[in-house]
Amino acid sequence: EVEMAQVVGLAVQPPSGSAMLLRTSSRVARRSVSSISEGRLARRTLPNNLGHLYLASAAPLSASMPGNGGLRLWHYENDHKAQREAVGLGLGMALKHSTYNTGFAGAKLICAAASPPHTWGEDDKKELLREVAAMLTTLDGKMYTGCDMNTTTEDMDYLSELCLSHGGRDYVLAAIGNKACCPNTATAYGVFGAVEATLGGSVAGKRLLVHGCGGVGSVVARLLVEHGAAHIATLDTLPERADLAGCANVSHEPEWWAAGYDAIVPCSASGLFTEERVLRAGAVVGATNLPFSSRAAQDVAEASLTFVPEGVSSAGAVIVDSVEHYSRKQFAEAPPEMLYEFTRETVRAKTLELLDAARRAGVAPSAVVADIAEPRDTDPIGRRFEAWAKYKQDEEQARTMAAAAAEARASIIGRYAAKAMDIHANALSNLVLQGGGARVAGARAYSSGAPRCAPAGRRTMSSSAAGVARWRSTQSFASSAVSEHSADAVIVGAGIMGLNIAYQLRRRDPNAKIVVLEQAPVLGFGSSGYSTGFQRAYYSFDETMRFALDGMAAYKNWKDYLQDPAAEAKFTETGALWMLGYDGRTNEAMVKRLAKFNVHADSLDADGLREMFGGLISSEPLPKYNAEGDEVEQNLGPFSAVYEHGCGHLDSSTCLSDILRACQRDGIDVRFKQKVGGIELADCGERVAGVRMEDGRVLSSPVVINASGPWFNKLNATAGVDLSTTALPTRIQVGHKWIPEEFCKLPFVADGWGPSGIYFMPRAANNQLVFGSVDHRFESEIVDPDVYNTSLDPDVKQDYLNCLFHRLPTLPREGEIVGFSSMYTVNQDDVHPMIGETRVGGLWACNGFSGHGFKLAPAVGSLVAQQITQVKTDRWETDVPQDFMGPYRQPLNLKVKTHFAQ
Ligand SMILES: Cc1cc2nc3c(=O)[nH]c(=O)nc-3n(C[C@H](O)[C@H](O)[C@H](O)COP(=O)(O)OP(=O)(O)OC[C@H]3O[C@@H](n4cnc5c(N)ncnc54)[C@H](O)[C@@H]3O)c2cc1C
Repeated sequence: EVEMAQVVGLAVQPPSGSAMLLRTSSRVARRSVSSISEGRLARRTLPNNLGHLYLASAAPLSASMPGNGGLRLWHYENDHKAQREAVGLGLGMALKHSTYNTGFAGAKLICAAASPPHTWGEDDKKELLREVAAMLTTLDGKMYTGCDMNTTTEDMDYLSELCLSHGGRDYVLAAIGNKACCPNTATAYGVFGAVEATLGGSVAGKRLLVHGCGGVGSVVARLLVEHGAAHIATLDTLPERADLAGCANVSHEPEWWAAGYDAIVPCSASGLFTEERVLRAGAVVGATNLPFSSRAAQDVAEASLTFVPEGVSSAGAVIVDSVEHYSRKQFAEAPPEMLYEFTRETVRAKTLELLDAARRAGVAPSAVVADIAEPRDTDPIGRRFEAWAKYKQDEEQARTMAAAAAEARASIIGRYAAKAMDIHANALSNLVLQGGGARVAGARAYSSGAPRCAPAGRRTMSSSAAGVARWRSTQSFASSAVSEHSADAVIVGAGIMGLNIAYQLRRRDPNAKIVVLEQAPVLGFGSSGYSTGFQRAYYSFDETMRFALDGMAAYKNWKDYLQDPAAEAKFTETGALWMLGYDGRTNEAMVKRLAKFNVHADSLDADGLREMFGGLISSEPLPKYNAEGDEVEQNLGPFSAVYEHGCGHLDSSTCLSDILRACQRDGIDVRFKQKVGGIELADCGERVAGVRMEDGRVLSSPVVINASGPWFNKLNATAGVDLSTTALPTRIQVGHKWIPEEFCKLPFVADGWGPSGIYFMPRAANNQLVFGSVDHRFESEIVDPDVYNTSLDPDVKQDYLNCLFHRLPTLPREGEIVGFSSMYTVNQDDVHPMIGETRVGGLWACNGFSGHGFKLAPAVGSLVAQQITQVKTDRWETDVPQDFMGPYRQPLNLKVKTHFAQ
């Protein structure tokens, strides 16, 4: 009878959020759609006319992807209703499991009792559990279950014993391996995390209604009290259950839904919110399955409030199940409070992701549940618990660093270390304080169980405090290591920015533990590897001119900067010709401005150009044509240009290898094939706590620098960071062409004379001319850095060549043109970088360098290192004000909309 039958024609109300799952075409969703639409139902008739046992699953069950869902005992009006509920709940479980990648498939066991459960005797229950054990044993690891309505942890203990005696294996997941852990409390902590995320990070000062004060609702209410909610109303069908300390019992209030709350937290029966009950609340977020009586009721509510579907908010128990199943040993040893906290943080982060995705898409959160499902190919959430717990221990260790920090403050290096330690300590104490009055700190932090779950003899923080003491006696903070799971500063991205920041930080703090994480197996995967490496001082702001010169000073003295006589990159001087369409007066003014910065430059007219370059470069503007193909008058005035001396280029790949070597020599830990999946937050999202790798491992750090180039926004999104200006990955195309010797002496040329918009530059060493764009028309294709066309488009190539052959009339036409495309990160608001600490304390932004970041990188490294440490050395520094390019500045006024000459 456990043979699964495909469900046909069963009208099921889909779980909140799954309608979109069926419609959307996203990759993750498509996977889930197939499983959802293949709902299955098995039936077993119970002896003694007790009723029927249903097993509903959203997909075929297997030992590698077993089903998981609680055992519900309920009396239904008829069989059809029972089946309907079984399948609906199975689908709901599927949504939870896929949202968090618990490693389980969605399923549910329903006992459709012939008579109401309160009429059942003890023997009836035992009979049912024997039947369930037989079914589970037959399924042989394809299905796991736990408590649900009218089944208790004692029932599960009994079921577990039966399974073990039947087949020698246990198919019950109800925290059997850790008796102090209560699944209901885990669910409550998850719900609480979701509420925190929905209310902007904290419940302090908020008004909430908790509907239903059973095992979940009562714990949620307690957490709300502990975390400073201003007003907590509670309600239950058994009114005395809603008499909770610090809460106002509104069980007798007839229109409880209309009292006006920041959030209503349903922890009771399905179908609570009908179309008639017009909710006056900012949000609905809770534990109840299917809290709305119909899709229409949900639509009405979602028009005026934020609804977080229960597939996201009510997943605490399945998260703990996943830990129990996939990390058995860690589960058995963990203090329950640690498991609850894990649940709370996991659900909070997921809820933030959901709300962010909804905000970006401009739709209700229930419409994007499918989009935030964890990929199946990552570790199940339960396997990630161990790394998380380790990270928490590190954090506990960090809390003890404050004293050591005071000693370290005396030295330059120490100030940085002390700041890092303070941040570490601060993050930790906040975390502990958030745990509430009962969990003040230290030894008691993880030993006090929730009221409904008696604490058992298990590891407490006092044992880890002993570890801290040991650690402190053997290490000083400045001796760099907390552990391989933590660092003083983590830099995401080993592009030219990330490596320069690491190098510059290290210059002022030789003992700090600096880790650079790079997703690619080798250097040069992002923009830096494709850079032309050209360097110039011609900028329209004094600050950016200064900044560029500070960067160039390092490149021009590369061996000295890196303190490496074997550094190989060499600066090749070419000079630069700026023919950007400005008149003689403007160009004269630029020559004077450059002179102020000791950069020699000349203003050239057409004769001067001919004299200087022997007629190779034409002074004729590129002709302009109208839509009919007729040439039109441009009235550009006489030709004028600026020739800047002293600029030139370096090979970007060689620079990257050189600086990597210097970093590694100095003890910076540069790790390749390490993709950061997200930013880890502490202090309700106010402060960075480290980074989470794609595989779930966590690297804790009080300072994280996002130098991930075109991936910048993807990473920021994981921390909910928005800046005042927006940089987007922009596709940029470059061509190469063979040139004869006489063209190798050309300068770098930026050509904006007429409707051109290209640059070109010789690479004399291999007789190549590199050409690309200085005009917006070539630079407007925003791309996903993980999926874009990396070749040179034929029409762009032709456009480039038209401009090129016009400017260089004698350039031979023959020879192959090769090209590629890569990415700039272009600040859409003002074409300037954003460099500085974000609103998430300790998280630095470093992005938006368009087509000229390479030259700036040593100066960027100096700026970021100064911002973090407030230390300035006597060499290789920039004097640009620290907030000039701050991430929350007003857009800097833009003179010309080009990504090149700013
Ligand atoms: C074709 C082209 C020509 C250019 N020409 C010039 C020029 O002549 N002069 C000039 O000054 N500038 C030039 N630039 C611009 C310059 O190259 C860039 O401004 C600069 O390289 C940006 O460096 P970055 O370190 O910020 O980014 P990137 O070099 O893109 O580095 C970011 C790194 O982060 C890694 N990463 C991303 N996400 C993650 C993650 N989640 N986990 C781990 N690692 C991650 C990426 O793999 C990448 O290696 C040019 C750029 C291009 C594309």
